[in-house]
Amino acid sequence: MSEILPFRYLFGPGPGNAYPEVMAALSHPVIGHLDPVFIARLDRVSAGLREVWGTANARTWPVSATGSGGMEAAFVNFVEPGDPVVVAVNGLFGERMCEVARRCGAEVVRVEHEWGQPVDAERVLAAHPSPKIIAAVHAETSTGVRSDIAALGAGKGDALLLADAVTSIGGLELLADEWGVDIGYAGTQKCLGVPPGLSPFTVSERAFERRVREPRSWYFDIGLLGGYVGAAQGRTRTYHHTAPVTMIAGLEAALDRILAEGLPTVWARHEAAGAALREGLEDMGLELFAAEGSRLPSLTTVRVPDGVSSARVRRILLEQYSIEVGSGVGEFADTVWRIGLMGPNANPASVTLALGALGEAIGAAR
Ligand code: PLP
Repeated sequence: MSEILPFRYLFGPGPGNAYPEVMAALSHPVIGHLDPVFIARLDRVSAGLREVWGTANARTWPVSATGSGGMEAAFVNFVEPGDPVVVAVNGLFGERMCEVARRCGAEVVRVEHEWGQPVDAERVLAAHPSPKIIAAVHAETSTGVRSDIAALGAGKGDALLLADAVTSIGGLELLADEWGVDIGYAGTQKCLGVPPGLSPFTVSERAFERRVREPRSWYFDIGLLGGYVGAAQGRTRTYHHTAPVTMIAGLEAALDRILAEGLPTVWARHEAAGAALREGLEDMGLELFAAEGSRLPSLTTVRVPDGVSSARVRRILLEQYSIEVGSGVGEFADTVWRIGLMGPNANPASVTLALGALGEAIGAAR
């Protein structure tokens, strides 16, 4: 029998704790993927996802894959070999976008940024005279930085704007239509408060018309998904793949929970938690990593103080306080911590707990 782990406070970069309503939904009996109950559920979930994306796109649904699967779907459906694709790189996930676009045959135009800085819209928009796609990460989980997607949308011209909203959806203001996002993918494991495994996805009609007719991936070909996601558009459901029914029930519970609280209230709760955490960390004499003015509330990056072992602090937090905090990424692996306040963790009690335990652990690790 597998071991049942004790409850942990997950303040890492995710998967964070799920909302209790989600855990309840996940424990319900498994139903068939063609059961009318499930068919209605997928439609409800797609409608709820439109709300959290801030879009009226009919083509909005949970891709059966993690956030990286959503990223693959976003590129493979729109990039033909030789297409110029501008990618804003200000962290690990912008980097990953370049690699995915390269494998689709894109002529990748990278726009480099120092890690910890937001995307510079002017430079990105000037990087190529007529790109097919401009791609950027709204909330860079590797660095704790929020970027201005609306500024890219305002200047995108004829290009399609592709945005990663993995660490913003369901927690931070996200207005895909208003900002001009044509192709968006996200993940369930961050602010939506659902375990990992689904990628909320949205595509504008403008983008859909310009899709690759036969993408190199069968599974992610959005042209084949009509019957899977189509009931909301008045079509009969047809089989494409066996839907992850239980995960989608969990997502439905999260969307119900979030929309009942109200999106502006949920956003304000995340903003307030992030601000309180940042203030508490600075009061402890710690230095924040992300550029001021672009700090994410859902993921705070803070420098490890001199003379303190990052790994030791993280081990103390895990073993003595059941708290998981993320390490830094890449060259910042040992010098930055990443503290997530996502979904159910975006509240004052979690902030107090995280600050208190971190202070104790740093003291013990000196
Ligand atoms: N994009 C961002 C901003 C992320 O934070 C992540 C995961 O943390 C991903 C993409 C990839 O998602 P996944 O790990 O679910 O495949």
